Amino acid sequence: MIVVLKKDANKEKQDKLIDWLKGMGLGIHISVGEYQTVLGLIGDTSKVDMDLIGSLDIVDSVKRVTDTFKCVNRQFHPDDTVVNVGDVKIGGGNFAMIAGPCSVESEAQIVEVAKAVKAAGANLLRGGAFKPRTSPYDFQGLKGEGLELLKIARKETGLPIVTEIMSVSDLPLFEDVDVLQVGARNMQNFDLLKELGRIGKPILLKRGLANTLKELLMSAEYIMASGNEQVILCERGIRTYSDYMRNTLDLSAVPMLHELSHLPVIVDPSHATGIARMVPPMALSAAACGADGLIIEVHNDPIHALCDGAQSLTPDEYAKLVVKVNAVRDAIR
Ligand code: PEP
Ligand code: MN
Repeated sequence: MIVVLKKDANKEKQDKLIDWLKGMGLGIHISVGEYQTVLGLIGDTSKVDMDLIGSLDIVDSVKRVTDTFKCVNRQFHPDDTVVNVGDVKIGGGNFAMIAGPCSVESEAQIVEVAKAVKAAGANLLRGGAFKPRTSPYDFQGLKGEGLELLKIARKETGLPIVTEIMSVSDLPLFEDVDVLQVGARNMQNFDLLKELGRIGKPILLKRGLANTLKELLMSAEYIMASGNEQVILCERGIRTYSDYMRNTLDLSAVPMLHELSHLPVIVDPSHATGIARMVPPMALSAAACGADGLIIEVHNDPIHALCDGAQSLTPDEYAKLVVKVNAVRDAIR
């Protein structure tokens, strides 16, 4: 249920109403917007008397929210959420350009790529240290050492770092990471999501390989319900009938997620297609349909990459793409 308060609602009366609702065992999510304050009621609202609340002089309207996701719901928070990563803002008109290799391979590699993507216009650096690979015989990432190399690249460039966490037990290693990524394969690792809800860091939550938008939003709800409001959603392609590409990029997810939720939505055209030459057209399309950012794999030597070389752009290709992405963003503004 949501309670929309009148524009200049008396503060004392607001507090009284909130205390009274809390006394009924409800959680209250308060969203103070420029034009209105919205109280989102979480819990069993079946016994809440809507007419009584609606009759209060500070209340503008009362509405039942039938969706199962509450905290992530646009109705609970009409304004776009802006996620802050140091000085970088994501959402609400702020665009994230996240770029870097699939995996961190060496200091020379990650520092070279970090410098190149920064020069091209990226504002965040990606790089996997813990890699979820289909085969146990494939490169599994440099793990803790990889995280240290990412920190060196951050120091060299000033770019905040985005990297994937696969297990709750690794959390202590991620203390100095700027954005923790939950990969597609872990989108429904509910214990991990709950734990990430308890930390005060932005979480990049990728859509699972075969998950619906509602399931993605419910996973974000796990993080938010545990207290962390800094969640970025990511469309990275889903399994369909695609035969020539790794996945199918569901771009209509972007405007639909924006309608349903206030959280920023970014797109990963690299994992969606699996083919480097498909990345620019899909990245431009993502920018055109209103995405709040792009996460793109870039490698200084794609042919010899230890993971996902076929879908990695070279730094030069990335730089050319950034210019076009900016042009598309200008065109739709
Ligand atoms: C990645 O970003 O490196 C990755 C493994 O992505 P996904 O979880 O989308 O497959
Ligand atoms: Mn990858």
